[in-house]
Amino acid sequence: MQPKKDVLISKFSTIGLGGKADYFFDVESKVELQKAIDWCTEQSIEFRIVGGFSNLLFSDHGYRGALIRLINQDLEITSKNDTHWQVRVDAGYEWDEFVSWAISQDLAGTECLSGIPGKVGASPIQNIGAYGQDVSKTITEVEVYDLESKNFKKLSNSDCSFSYRNSRFKKSINLTEIIWSVSFELELFGEPLMKYTDLLKRAKSNHRYKQQAAGKEQLTAVRNTVLEIRKSKSMIYNPKDKNSRSLGSFFLNPVVSKESFDYMCEQLSAKKEDIPYFSVDNGIKISAAWLIEQAGFKRGHQYRGVGLSEKHSLAIINRGGSTKEVLELAEAIQQTIHEKYKIKLKPEPQHIP
Ligand SMILES: Cc1cc2nc3c(=O)[nH]c(=O)nc-3n(C[C@H](O)[C@H](O)[C@H](O)COP(=O)(O)OP(=O)(O)OC[C@H]3O[C@@H](n4cnc5c(N)ncnc54)[C@H](O)[C@@H]3O)c2cc1C
Repeated sequence: MQPKKDVLISKFSTIGLGGKADYFFDVESKVELQKAIDWCTEQSIEFRIVGGFSNLLFSDHGYRGALIRLINQDLEITSKNDTHWQVRVDAGYEWDEFVSWAISQDLAGTECLSGIPGKVGASPIQNIGAYGQDVSKTITEVEVYDLESKNFKKLSNSDCSFSYRNSRFKKSINLTEIIWSVSFELELFGEPLMKYTDLLKRAKSNHRYKQQAAGKEQLTAVRNTVLEIRKSKSMIYNPKDKNSRSLGSFFLNPVVSKESFDYMCEQLSAKKEDIPYFSVDNGIKISAAWLIEQAGFKRGHQYRGVGLSEKHSLAIINRGGSTKEVLELAEAIQQTIHEKYKIKLKPEPQHIP
């Protein structure tokens, strides 16, 4: 099995950045995956697994190693009964196509995750989520290739240690497990999740959402509403929309202690009721987008060839700049917020130096 050489990363990446990767494999079968890994091991070449490049920031100098992209694309219904279906989906399957398929089958559980770019294989990594829903609620099993034992094995939902934008896969600094397929349990004619009142209101007014019409009619109304909101914020990747040349949200919403929260309120002379926050198990979660704006980085902010989206202050976009500039802007935001409010913002996408 031979890789392609000198492949430009920016042409795949949703933010349109990254130099050339020395080697690039597309693998479709388990045998091909093992062969690609063997090839890298034999030549002592570092490798990384990639999906849709929508949460990865590569250096302007590219990647001195091999990128292995999984392009396996099977979807199999493994069991069904009157209330639930179990579905196994390959890592290379497009995430949003899976959501759309599930809705067409009257299956609830992923509708609020409509429009998230990337592949199914990456969905457990940061436990993708939106509008109060995340994949940890529907994932039953993740099949991985274990690089240490050189075997495929199955992990249960609890093995994955899911939490807010996190899982066992994100925690390991060195890649030890490659996700080959993900199994979901979806509810037949289940109710769509409506944690956000704004979502319900918009679904009712714009998409004739009816309480009684369980199944694809209701789920489609929710999907279309989510897609509409995401589009208005340029949170659907579209190469023609300059505000969507991003990696989505660049920072995680910080979770802070009560003391830190009070300190921030003091610095901002803000009333608690004016702050978008909510209590979580380990503290208080604050909207990173709001914090960024308070710190003086408004939507549309420009820094050299990069900047903030005109539609969403949490998205760093590429306006013909470089990875170096993205990192400089991110650091300026982090530093300012830390100096002003003593809060540390953590980036969501992974930076590969
Ligand atoms: C416009 C936009 C909007 C977004 N909105 C959201 C949102 O609402 N919610 C949200 O959670 N995310 C969002 N994201 C982030 C992103 O879409 C998700 O994190 C997505 O799951 C990344 O998928 P990917 O296939 O592109 O992964 P990649 O970016 O290719 O990879 C991400 C990470 O996963 C690893 N990886 C990928 N596939 C595998 C595999 N099979 N096995 C092991 N490791 C693997 C990579 O090495 C890397 O560390 C958004 C991004 C953009 C650009």
